[in-house]
Amino acid sequence: MLAALAGGVGAARFLAGLVQCVDPSEITVVGNTGDDEEFFGLHVSPDLDSITYTLAGASNTEQGWGLEGESFRTMHALTRYGEPNWFNLGDLDLATHIFRTRRMRGDGATLAEVTADVAAAWKLDLHLLPMTNDSVRTRITCARSDGTREVLAMQEWFVRERAEPAVLQVDFDGAGTARPAPGVLDALDRADTIVICPSNPIISIGPILAIPGVRDALVRRRDRVVAVCPIIDGAPVRGPADRLMAPLGVEVSPAGVARHYREFCATLVIDERDAAHAEAVRAAGVRPVVTETLMRSPQIAAELAQCTLAAVA
Ligand code: GDP
Ligand code: CA
Repeated sequence: MLAALAGGVGAARFLAGLVQCVDPSEITVVGNTGDDEEFFGLHVSPDLDSITYTLAGASNTEQGWGLEGESFRTMHALTRYGEPNWFNLGDLDLATHIFRTRRMRGDGATLAEVTADVAAAWKLDLHLLPMTNDSVRTRITCARSDGTREVLAMQEWFVRERAEPAVLQVDFDGAGTARPAPGVLDALDRADTIVICPSNPIISIGPILAIPGVRDALVRRRDRVVAVCPIIDGAPVRGPADRLMAPLGVEVSPAGVARHYREFCATLVIDERDAAHAEAVRAAGVRPVVTETLMRSPQIAAELAQCTLAAVA
């Protein structure tokens, strides 16, 4: 049995490699829902959907998010009515959000139930769980150039504001009283190996760890926890991890990630470009494993997954 903590695209690429080395039915993925948001009354779960679409082989690899062959006619049509279109929802993608919202509001289904339905419809063989069925929302407190503070939803900061406003603080609203989704703690307790995917440590892995019980479960299993470093050569491969890590005092380096994860993670897989950082990772009390981690192809992702599992075998 294997468990994985996952954000969106970085995690999805890694998981696409993992399912090539392990029987998918042995894998339980715990996905971040701190990025979830409501748009036009629809419940959007960006990270869960990135995983589903990628594993289904239906993701838009050029664009880096969403579905392949996507169009945006509905969003364009909405601008006629003056509706904001900064969060681009594709015409095909909207079907997922409509289905999710109808099941939750109309049928009273939980997010975990709908996530399973969506995954089944895309013929995923692994178990995909949201971290919680409760509402947890990542909120970013920023400093405006005029000196004022503003609290933005994660998507407002990242997409609408292009991650430009300086970050002062990150909160996971609702996490303190949220309960892990059914099966989450069980999966962490029973897994032979727990993988922390190459995901944003602050806003993808952070919200999952903030759900009561999850961090403690990892601490108990520390020896069996292995993370893949999302930082290569001093920068994230894509996305705003550095814009969040640095202001929160997490060095944008393998050692910074190691110090951030050390309490609950015994092994960190770092990139061969960062081989010189291995000693600093070890000094943080985490065992470094050096390999190619830039997932330029499904083949490299599979090799990375294999190496990650071997690191704790
Ligand atoms: P998001 O929710 O879509 O931003 O996805 P994640 O949090 O899962 O992924 C974002 C993180 O994945 C970023 O910090 C990237 O640096 C990292 N990432 C993306 N692709 C790769 C890759 O090929 N290799 C490694 N090591 N990290 C990656
Ligand atoms: Ca995300």
